Order: sequence, then C-alpha cells, then structure tokens
Amino acid sequence: MVLDPPLPKPLFARLTVIGIGLIGSSILRAALGRRLAEEVVAYDRAPEVRTRAEALGLADRVAASPTEAVAGADLIVLCVPVGAMGAAAEQIGPAVAADAIVSDVGSVKASVARALAAHIPGHAHIIPAHPVAGTEYSGPDAGFATLFKNRWCILTPPEGVNPAALERLEDFWAALGANVEVMTAERHDLVLAITSHVPHLIAYNIVGTAADLETVTQSEVIKYSAGGFRDFTRIAASDPTMWRDIFLNNREAVIEVLGRFTEDLIALQRAIRWEQGDALFDLFTRTRAIRRSIIEQGQETAAPDFGRAHD
Ligand code: NAP
Repeated sequence: MVLDPPLPKPLFARLTVIGIGLIGSSILRAALGRRLAEEVVAYDRAPEVRTRAEALGLADRVAASPTEAVAGADLIVLCVPVGAMGAAAEQIGPAVAADAIVSDVGSVKASVARALAAHIPGHAHIIPAHPVAGTEYSGPDAGFATLFKNRWCILTPPEGVNPAALERLEDFWAALGANVEVMTAERHDLVLAITSHVPHLIAYNIVGTAADLETVTQSEVIKYSAGGFRDFTRIAASDPTMWRDIFLNNREAVIEVLGRFTEDLIALQRAIRWEQGDALFDLFTRTRAIRRSIIEQGQETAAPDFGRAHD
C-alpha cells in the first residue's frame, strides 16, 4: 500500500502529537509524508522515545516538554494509553491555544472525553477520536504511514461542538486515508466492546487457559497451534498496558456484552451436550456469512489462512 501524494496546502499550521508509539508515530509518518501541517511537532514522556523519534525523523521538531510541544498548535492529538489521557491533558492544559482542536486516539471514548474536559481550557475544541486500526506491536518503530488507509476512524464530538472544528478534524482523518464516522461516545464504547474489547478478552482467556492446562503440555500447544489457537495468540500478544486500561475504562459496556456472551456460550455447551447438530450447523452458517461480509467490505483479506505465505 502506498501513501497518497502531499496535499497542495497543509490543513493545519502546527500539528502536535503527544505519545510517539504505534499510533502516534503512524500519524506523524503520514502527516509528514502528506504534509498535513506546516509544522509537525512530537513529544513523548520517555526520553529514549524522543531520541528515537529524532533519529527516525518522525517530526519537524521533537519537543522537550509537553507545554513546549503544544504551544501554538492548532491541532493536538493525544496518542497515549487510555489511562494516561488525564495526566497528559493536565500537562498540556495551560499551554493549549485558543481555538486549538484537542483530540486523541484512545480505544475508549466516554472516559477519555471526561478526562479531557477536566483539563483542557474552554477556549479549545475537544473532539475525541478513535482510529479502528492497529497491530499487536508498540513503540515508535512499529508505526507506518499507511496504517489508517481504508480503516474507520470514529469521531465522538460532544454536544454543541463547533461544526467548523469538526469538519477540519474529519478532513485530517480523511487525509490520513481513513473513512470517518461520527457517533456518540457511549455508542462507540458499546460497539467496540463487542467488535474489539470482548474478542480481545476471549483471546487473552483462551491463551491463558491453554498455558495453564496441566493435561496438555506447553510444547504440544505450540506444536499444534495452527489448528486455530495461533490466531488467538496474535491478539493475545497485544500491549498489556493498553488493554488493561481499555477494560478498566469501558467496564460497563464490556460487562454487559460479556453477560450476553456467557449466556450464548452456555447455550452452545448445551447444544453439544445434547447433540443438537442442527443448532450448531445453523450458527456456524450464520457466522460464516458474517466473515464473508467483512471481506466484501474490504476490512479483511479473502486469502486462505489470513493471507499467510505457504511455500
Ligand atoms: P504505545 O505504542 O505503547 O505508545 C504510547 C506512548 O505514549 C509510549 O511511548 C508512552 O510512554 C507514551 N506516554 C504515556 N503517557 C504519556 C504522557 N503522559 N505524555 C507523553 N507520552 C506518554 O501505544 P499505542 O499502541 O500507540 O496506543 C496509543 C493509544 O492509541 C492508546 O490510547 C490506544 O488505546 C489507542 N489505540 C491503539 C491501537 C493499537 O492497536 N495499538 C489502535 C487504536 C487505538 P511510556 O512507554 O513511558 O508509558
């Protein structure tokens, strides 16, 4: 996949990205590559990450402090773990310029919106966002400019948001290659609980169960993992800090979806116990159709075995 050419005119005067990990460094790479801002500034609390970002040329300028980073910025994007959003917002708050757009990329939206509102001055526009794109890798080396291409980015503006500011942020994400959708933070958190958060929890659980099973050895689990387990291990390798924060910050929606999941799992257990083959067959037919629609909508490859090379 290639990045589209630079824009004829940058969308922002100064873009500041706080947190130079997988997502932050991907935004920086794409923003520089397409020249989405006249100046692209980055900051991370870890000195070694700042040094690495400089070596990789991820920004026009890597700032030494959060206030220096956001001074004069008209777009600020917080790319730190969900549990660190409040602290990051508190650190930048006093230096945020009037009319600046303050956004984020957190995987949970209602709690982040509250954290931002507590620390960002009223003269700025808070518009939380979540690019539904990522990998199981972290850090400034893990990002790439085309990460957001043809992926969804969900914006969750508060009621009464400034329409011009919202449009500018929509244009920014569209320029990063994303398809933009707008919804409430509560809706986002419920939808993502079923499409992302609970699936991750299931992966963490099944990999943990396999690791703890006394009757099957670890070497057997690894040796025969291609039977399906391997695909769960990719998800279960996701960043522990990020996912701890997601579950702690989207508790209600996750618990609601988990309740429903548990009931359905027990129904499946019963169908197996009572040899109700038709019930199993019907469910597996419906789920196969869902995978086909995901492929048709370009959100997954149709190549067998998730496109893995077999030579
Ligand atoms: P990451 O690779 O772990 O990078 C996060 C960076 O932020 C780290 O370098 C971290 O430093 C730094 N940081 C933490 N607190 C900070 C603060 N107060 N000020 C400045 N920097 C700070 O994380 P990521 O995967 O890019 O995730 C970032 C955000 O994107 C999260 O909110 C996550 O929910 C969201 N997201 C992730 C994905 C995904 O697949 N990874 C997808 C969509 C959205 P330390 O290492 O010192 O803590």
